[in-house]
Amino acid sequence: MNEPSLRRLEFDRENILYELFISTNDLSIIKSNRQNQNNDISWLMAFGRYLKTIRINSHPINSNIHLYEFIKQILNENLEINCGLILILKQCIYLYPDKLINLSFEYYLSNILLIILDPYLKYKYIRLLYLILNKIDKKFFNNIFPLKENLLKNYQQYDISIIIILEKLILINLDYEFQLLLNKIYNKTFYEYLKSNDFDDDEIIDLCYILFQINLNKNFHCIFNISNIFIDLLKYINYDIDTMMNWLLTPETDMGRIFLEHLGGQRIFSCAHCDTPLTNRNELVSTRFTGATGRAFLFSRIVNTKQSPVQERIMLTGRHFVRDISCKKCDAKLGWMYEFATEESQRYKEGRVILERALINETVGF
Ligand SMILES: [Zn+2]
Repeated sequence: MNEPSLRRLEFDRENILYELFISTNDLSIIKSNRQNQNNDISWLMAFGRYLKTIRINSHPINSNIHLYEFIKQILNENLEINCGLILILKQCIYLYPDKLINLSFEYYLSNILLIILDPYLKYKYIRLLYLILNKIDKKFFNNIFPLKENLLKNYQQYDISIIIILEKLILINLDYEFQLLLNKIYNKTFYEYLKSNDFDDDEIIDLCYILFQINLNKNFHCIFNISNIFIDLLKYINYDIDTMMNWLLTPETDMGRIFLEHLGGQRIFSCAHCDTPLTNRNELVSTRFTGATGRAFLFSRIVNTKQSPVQERIMLTGRHFVRDISCKKCDAKLGWMYEFATEESQRYKEGRVILERALINETVGF
């Protein structure tokens, strides 16, 4: 029998901690638990997931001042940057939008910019910045984001990333000279940047979405030509224009993308056996997967299905822990959901669902 992987052991521990937090909802227990644990990824992930759950469920502990003080205490220790930390920072943006300065956001946003090389963390970081743009009052930006002077002075060492572009978009406002410089950097290097950082297609299209939305926002007077970005990106990734436009034009909510609510002409995916609706085109992330019956699609969200217990499965892209997905009404097997991927680069699939093309129908709704 094979030894379980280190990451699998960490993930098991993360799950145990998360279950503990959720089952007690008692801050003193969570606090005393932390004293016996290191601030490693598993603990931080579990705590971040806990914060996300109580936030989404509007649990009363959200407004407990001791919870805020506890989070503040954790973040003021200037933790090492990892996925767990970023998850906690993200929850704070929702929970304490006007108190981010006290939560060391300035420290983390500068440090992440300076030191992270991992594309997955960069991607998470950009999402974090985007969330701040959308959730935080503009008057706090200058206190949270790295100083413009430092960015200008050091921009080359940040590998001229779109991280910078995003940050500068936030900071520049009406600084025309700065915008020109940014525009030059962007036009020269964006495409190479994406390639050299090995973002995968789904991350790129998501980054593209963010740039597009920022460009739409008239408060940020950015001057680069957005259509050039998309021409480049369409060359680089394999999305069809339809999927791309759906992504770009579908608004996001606090819970993810809006589901089953869209302008006319949306396409519905349903169970091929009994026609129960499962999801729609807006939830389609990628069409380039392969299932047992051939072509398969990756969706960010589906409804009206049942899940099997977790099973381990070895795939081309590494070890995954998945649940089989079947139709709630007729029990027909439809695909699987990614519970956990052992490869860091595959973790974007977690929580997302594969439906096999041959097992679903696509119809035009109204
Ligand atoms: Zn069915």
